[in-house]
Amino acid sequence: MRTVYINGQFVAEDAAHVSIFDRGLLFADAVYEVFSVLDGRIIDYAAHMMRLERSLAEMTIDHDCSATDWPGLLAALIERNALTEGTIYLQISRGAADRDFLFPKAGTPATVFAFTQARALVFNPMAERGMRIITRPDRRWGRRDIKTVQLLYASMMKMEAKAAGVDDCWLVEGDVITEGTSQNACIITPNGHLVTRDLGHHILPGVTRLSLIDIARASGITVEERPFTIAEAQGAAEAFVTSASLFVMPVVEIDGLSVGDGRPGFETMALRRAYIEHARAQG
Ligand code: PLP
Repeated sequence: MRTVYINGQFVAEDAAHVSIFDRGLLFADAVYEVFSVLDGRIIDYAAHMMRLERSLAEMTIDHDCSATDWPGLLAALIERNALTEGTIYLQISRGAADRDFLFPKAGTPATVFAFTQARALVFNPMAERGMRIITRPDRRWGRRDIKTVQLLYASMMKMEAKAAGVDDCWLVEGDVITEGTSQNACIITPNGHLVTRDLGHHILPGVTRLSLIDIARASGITVEERPFTIAEAQGAAEAFVTSASLFVMPVVEIDGLSVGDGRPGFETMALRRAYIEHARAQG
C-alpha cells in the first residue's frame, strides 16, 4: 500500500480523505501537476513548480507554495514509496466550504495532496510501435493554459479513441490541431523542421514541450511554434507527442492515414533518446 501526502501529513493511501464540500470535488476548482520520476529523481522540477504557481495565480487560489518545502516533501514521498520510475500527482484545491458558486472567504485553507504511481517510462512498448490516433473537435473550456482538474472532455475523447481501436486523440479547432488529450502535439515537416502549436489560452504549456524545444534547437533543428492542420500532420515526415509520462512518443497514424512510412520516425526517436538523456542528467 502506498504512503500518500495530504494536508501536511503522510498517511496510508486508504486513510487519506477529503471533505464532500471540497471545491475540487464540487466545482473542479483545483489545479494539479504531474511530475515524472526517473532513477528516483524528479525531471524538470523547477518548470513544473513554476507552472503550478502560475495555475494557482490564474485561478486566484490563495495558496503560497513557497511556504512548503516541496523539494523535501516530494523527495520523502519518493523514498517512502521506494519509487524509482513513475509519476507524482500533486493537487491543490480552493478548499472546503458550504456549496456556493461564489468563492469561500479569504483564509479558507487549500486542500493539498500528492501520491506516487510507479510505471515504466523509458521502456514503454508504445515507443517501439508508435501511437495511432484519431482527431476530434476540441470542446474543452477556453483556458486550457491553466492545469485544472476539469478533465472530463479529455477523458471522454480518450474513451472514444479506445472504442475506435486506437491509442489516443488529437483535438482540433476548425481543422487546426490544438493538442492531444493529455499531451502536446508535434510534427517534423518534410524539410526537417519541428512544428508545434504556439502557446496561448488554447493549449497547456507542456513542460516536456518546453524542454524538448530547447533540446531540438541545441541540436540544430529549426523549431516553428505555429498552428498546423490535420492535413499537414498527415503529410508530415514524422509526428509525435510530448508529456511528462510519455516523454517523446512517436505517432504513426492519424485518422487512418500513415504518417511517413507508418513507423516511428528517425528524428522522433533521436529526440526521445536526447530527452531521456536530459532527464537522467538531472538531480
Ligand atoms: N496538454 C495537456 C492537455 C495535458 O494534460 C498535458 C499533460 O498532462 C500536456 C499537454 C503535457 O504537459 P507536460 O509535458 O507538462 O506533461
